[in-house]
Amino acid sequence: MSAVTGLTCRECGQAYPVAPLHVCETCFGPLEVVYDYASIRRTMTRASIQSRPPSIWRYRELLPVQGEPQIGLYSGFTPLVKADRLAASLGVKELYVKDDSVNHPTFSYKDRVVAVAISKAIEFGFDTVSCASTGNLANSVSAHAARAGLRCFIFIPADLEQGKVVGSAIYGPRTIGIRGTYDDVNRLCSEIADRYGWAFVNINLRPYYTEGAKTYGFEIAEQLGWRLPQHIVVPTAGGTILPKVAKAFEELQRIGLVDGGQSVKIYSAQAAGCAPVIHALHTGADSIAPVKPNTIAKSIAIGNPADGYYVLRAVRDSGGWGEAATDEEIIEGIELLARTEGIFTEPAGGTTVAVTKKLIAQGRIPRHESIVICITGNGYKTIEAVSNTVAPPCLINARLQEFDELYRQLPHVAAVATREHTG
Ligand SMILES: *Cc1c(COP(=O)(O)O)cnc(C)c1O
Ligand SMILES: [Zn+2]
Repeated sequence: MSAVTGLTCRECGQAYPVAPLHVCETCFGPLEVVYDYASIRRTMTRASIQSRPPSIWRYRELLPVQGEPQIGLYSGFTPLVKADRLAASLGVKELYVKDDSVNHPTFSYKDRVVAVAISKAIEFGFDTVSCASTGNLANSVSAHAARAGLRCFIFIPADLEQGKVVGSAIYGPRTIGIRGTYDDVNRLCSEIADRYGWAFVNINLRPYYTEGAKTYGFEIAEQLGWRLPQHIVVPTAGGTILPKVAKAFEELQRIGLVDGGQSVKIYSAQAAGCAPVIHALHTGADSIAPVKPNTIAKSIAIGNPADGYYVLRAVRDSGGWGEAATDEEIIEGIELLARTEGIFTEPAGGTTVAVTKKLIAQGRIPRHESIVICITGNGYKTIEAVSNTVAPPCLINARLQEFDELYRQLPHVAAVATREHTG
């Protein structure tokens, strides 16, 4: 089934076999999966895709897995929400939210990449899977490992939100909290991967893992009726999803599933408290200077992004741009999305909304063109971020008279509701 021909070094082009390898022995460049696009072009059609179940595996010719998929059978194919009330609020004509806050089974975009990585781990015969994570990846690896019956070790910074910590622990992995930043966790995990020989989904299985992120882009094109958006705003942490969305759009044109010659401007969104990629974009630098993160957007707080360089390249090649949002703007972004579209996202999503708003205000994104914003995680996991921002419940006894009194004291409640109804 698979059209994978091997791995190749993204920098020097050296070829490698399909194996749990991730860096080039010669130049230390990252390895990437290579496909036989001519054969895919012959076999993969819109009709064959649409005849398959609504999951990431409907695009399996363009994923690096052999045989029938065994894991992640319900992951992906999340809603592309036509966001008219948010569009009105931002003053734009055509806006969509690609909503991975409801991805199966752990409510973030990570269920895509993990489904592919763990399928590959099973193929390679690993019995233990692992990851270095800012939270969502740990949730997804823990859940998929449980369903696959694999042993699981996860490594996280010790200061993560409760929802992210419990949201892994419930699946029964061994959790190791590290006193330090994600970048410290990641460095340690590279050493552990070498010594223990486990399948670290985002380290030694990284070439396969990252390919799963393409499905986010494939779905957007299919859900738009096999058309590409003119602008897309993507959050950046380690730098996996943004270049892979670009690659997804290229592949669809290359194999003829969407018309060629459509150009998509891609924009990166980061938190101001951890914006190494945005800083490089704004200063015109070619390399990324690592930073020490300090933001409420913990899931995207990666100070030394593994694929940051490829984010820069994809953004620049597309003619796009990027911006950073302060923690205050991030919270406003979370509220705006919730109150216009009824979607509760975590700070990473608030960042994307806030950055989209800035780019529109700056005139970088024209108001009359089609825009997709990438919502990659769920707000119910990060209640801490907004618990002091929202109004607490009004407390009364269960008596109609008490409600009547309360209602009379709160005319502003009705006024707010009316204003929001009429937009
Ligand atoms: C991991 C993550 C991202 C993006 O991460 P990349 O490493 O850049 O792909 C975005 N949003 C959320 C909620 C995440 O968990
Ligand atoms: Zn190389």
